Amino acid sequence: MNAMPELETFIKTLENEHALDRAGLVKLLTCEEALPLYMAADRVRKKFAGDDVHLRGLVEFSSYCFRTCFYCGLRAANNKIKRFRMEPEEIIECAKHAVSCGLKTIVLQSGEDKSFTINELCSIVNRIKCMDVAVTLSIGELSKSEYRALKNAGTDRYLLRIETSNKQLYKSLHPGMSYKNRVRCLYDLKELGYETGTGCLIGLPGQTPEMLADDLLFFKELDADMIGMGPFIPCTGTPLECEDGGDVDTVLKMMALARLLMPDINIPAATALGVKDSDGYKKGLICGANVIMPNMGRNEYKKLYAIYPGKGVGIINPENQIETIKTAIFQLGRNISCDYGSRKRLINTV
Ligand code: SAH
Repeated sequence: MNAMPELETFIKTLENEHALDRAGLVKLLTCEEALPLYMAADRVRKKFAGDDVHLRGLVEFSSYCFRTCFYCGLRAANNKIKRFRMEPEEIIECAKHAVSCGLKTIVLQSGEDKSFTINELCSIVNRIKCMDVAVTLSIGELSKSEYRALKNAGTDRYLLRIETSNKQLYKSLHPGMSYKNRVRCLYDLKELGYETGTGCLIGLPGQTPEMLADDLLFFKELDADMIGMGPFIPCTGTPLECEDGGDVDTVLKMMALARLLMPDINIPAATALGVKDSDGYKKGLICGANVIMPNMGRNEYKKLYAIYPGKGVGIINPENQIETIKTAIFQLGRNISCDYGSRKRLINTV
């Protein structure tokens, strides 16, 4: 059989059954001509998630982190960066500003900064919930009782990327961390009733298409509600600073495949995609994405949240960022969502 009809069959299976085996996923991840895959993902996005794009206001509130992940600029061992930590009042001010811009979800993200107590975080969540928005946290690995306290304080969603589902690769990139604990966190979050988001980095050194296919199967097995994926961007001051980064096409293929496998989930066009490619958001939105996360932190801190280079600078003018994003959305014939943008479960594919 020549390659084309085989790929077409895989895409048809995905579009109709929302399932495909690892070998089929690898073939699609490595195919030369991905347009039919992107088009199928766009049809499925339209059918199951609609034309609405959800805007989530991202507030990066602390760049302190005690972890030493090899890829991340915020790793504790990186003494080349200036760190910041917002005061609770500053976080609330940023949230208020995002709400005044019409955003219906506030995403609070930070490094793993142990100087915030769970009680302090609960109080921040509580105050933001009074603004009639959904609250997402992305603050790393915690115990089940800590996740429970934050849920009881009103948190709706939690983002914790598995980063890679390959145990060896995970171990080699995360000194002192355990793959098993990361998976435990994700299952605890689900059990506690969070809308649970995960995802992976794409283009990590040593990562193969087979590993990426396994990441997709892991997301489906978890029944994740949100999947955030972006290219690995090498960062100065980290052990991976001289490695090659991930490529945009592979990210778009992963997003398209995630949409086809899990038709009704929320998929952001990740910030890193916008940094890698000035058209990254638009490309993401036509390859399965239905979420964008404008950065609503204070301008002076955005550059300091230096997970990877290029973040918080250039491409999107901070003042006009929401307008720029809205224009891109309208140009694609899509709408800005007016609701909280929770996953609307339309199908049981697990
Ligand atoms: N402490 C939180 C938030 C981490 S930062 C947590 O553990 O979940 C958010 C995401 O940035 C990470 O999950 C990772 O996937 C991504 N990231 C880190 N370093 C990166 C890099 N060099 N290039 C691209 N993305 C990166």
